[in-house]
Amino acid sequence: MHTLIIGAGAAGIAAAIAAAKSGQQVTVLDRNRKALKKVGVTGNGRGNLLNHGELRYFGDADFALEVMTQMPYENVRDFLQSAGISLVHEGDLVYPSSLLASVAVEALLAQANELGVRIHVNTSAKSAIKTGETFHVTAVQSKFGKEKPKASGKMKKGALLEEKEVHYAADRLIVAVGGAAAPAHGTDGTGYDLLTTFGHRLTPICPALCALLTDERPIGGLAGQRVRAALTLKSKDDQILAQSKGEALFAQDGVSGIAAMQLARFVQKNAVLTLDMSETLMGDAAETMKLHEWLSRRTAQKKNAPIASLFAGSISAPLSRAILAASGIRDTAQKVASLTATDLEQLEKAITAFTVKVKGTRDFEAAQVTAGGIQTIDFNPQTMQSKLVDGLYAVGEVLNVDGDCGGYNLMFAFASGLLAGEGTGIREEHGER
Ligand SMILES: Cc1cc2nc3c(=O)[nH]c(=O)nc-3n(C[C@H](O)[C@H](O)[C@H](O)COP(=O)(O)OP(=O)(O)OC[C@H]3O[C@@H](n4cnc5c(N)ncnc54)[C@H](O)[C@@H]3O)c2cc1C
Repeated sequence: MHTLIIGAGAAGIAAAIAAAKSGQQVTVLDRNRKALKKVGVTGNGRGNLLNHGELRYFGDADFALEVMTQMPYENVRDFLQSAGISLVHEGDLVYPSSLLASVAVEALLAQANELGVRIHVNTSAKSAIKTGETFHVTAVQSKFGKEKPKASGKMKKGALLEEKEVHYAADRLIVAVGGAAAPAHGTDGTGYDLLTTFGHRLTPICPALCALLTDERPIGGLAGQRVRAALTLKSKDDQILAQSKGEALFAQDGVSGIAAMQLARFVQKNAVLTLDMSETLMGDAAETMKLHEWLSRRTAQKKNAPIASLFAGSISAPLSRAILAASGIRDTAQKVASLTATDLEQLEKAITAFTVKVKGTRDFEAAQVTAGGIQTIDFNPQTMQSKLVDGLYAVGEVLNVDGDCGGYNLMFAFASGLLAGEGTGIREEHGER
C-alpha cells in the first residue's frame, strides 16, 4: 500500500512514521526546503510539544476531544519517546529535555529516514484527484542554487534554477498542509483547496494566538512593559467573550504576551480588553488581603511622598503613570495624602480594570495558529478518514481545530497524524496483514 502525505509538518511526519511502522510505503511532499520547518521554531525555539493538563481546544472542539480520546496524551508521548526524544515537564507543558525544538526535529526526521519514508522537499502539491481506487497528485518541484550564509548566520535560499511538474499516484492520501498562519513556514492557506476539491467545506478563518491591536492612547509609553495580569475580553454590550491569566506584554499599538494572544481568536468588532494588574502590584500580599486594604496601607505609608511614586517598588514607572492617568489623577506632584476617597476608588478601578478598546488582531503573518479550517463533520475522529472520499484523510491544523497556547496545537497535530498514519481498518480492506 502506498500512502502519499502532503505536508511534512508535525501532523504529516507523525502520519508518515506511523504509516511506515505499519508496513506502508510512504512518500511525503513539502513545499519548504526542509521538513518540519515550523516545528523547529515553536515555543520560542524550545518546542512546547505537548500539554499534560486539561484539554483546551476550540473550533470543532468536540471532534478534537474525540481525537484525543482515541490517541491520548500518553500515546503521543510514547510516540515522541520512541523516536528518541527525551521529554521534560514545566507544569503541564512538555518540552524536549534539550529545550531545543531542533533536537526533536532531528530525532523525528532520523526515525522517518530509518523507516524508509521518502520526503520530497521543495515540492508543492497543486492538485489532487481520485480515479478508481487511486489518488493522483500533481506537484511542482523546484530546484534551487546553493544556499549562501546571511550576515545573521542563517542560510539564504539559492536562486530558483528550475521548476518541473511531477505526478504521484497513491492508494491513500493524507492532507497535512496546515492552515493559513505563519506563511513564512509554508502555510499560506492555499492547501485548503486540496480538500475542498473533494467536496470538503471550509469555515471562515482568522488568525489565532497573536497580539491584539488596541487603541494606542491608554497604552502610550508602555511599549516593552510586561505585567502579570488577569485579562478579560468583552463585547461592546459588555458580555464576556473570553478570559485569561498570565503575562501581557505591551507594544506601541497593542498587547501581546501569552495571556493576550490566547484571546485573539475571540476578538469581535468593538471589543474591549480589561487588565486586572492587582497581582503584580501587590505581589504575595494578594494572597492575604484585598486591593482596597493594600491601597489604604500604601497611601498611609507614603502619605508625604508625591503621588507619582505611590507604586514605586511594585510596578515600573511607565505602568504607574498609565494607571494614574487612567484613574484621572492629573497632578501627580501632589502629596499622596491629598488623594480623596473618589481618587482612591478610581485608582482601584484603573488597577483592576485597566481598559483599552480592541481594534483587531495582528494578521496571519504574525499568528501562530489558524482559527477555523476544514469542517470536521465530514471526517471520522477515530481514523481521520473522510466520510466523503474513501482513502482520503486530513490531519492537523488544516482542520477546524485550534488549541490554546501551551502545546495543544502540536499535540493535536501529532495525535491526528498518528491516527491517519496507522490507517486502522484500511489494510484489512486491501487484504494485507
Ligand atoms: C512561531 C510559532 C510558534 C509556535 N509554537 C507552538 C508551541 O510551542 N506549541 C504548540 O503546540 N504549537 C505551536 N505553534 C503551532 C504549531 O506549530 C502548529 O499548530 C502545528 O505545527 C500544526 O501542524 P501541522 O502539521 O498541521 O501543520 P504545519 O506544521 O504548519 O505543517 C504543514 C506543512 O505543509 C506544507 N505545505 C502546505 N501546503 C503545501 C502544498 N501545497 N504542498 C506541499 N506542502 C505543503 C508546509 O510547508 C508545512 O511544512 C506555533 C506556531 C508558530 C508559527
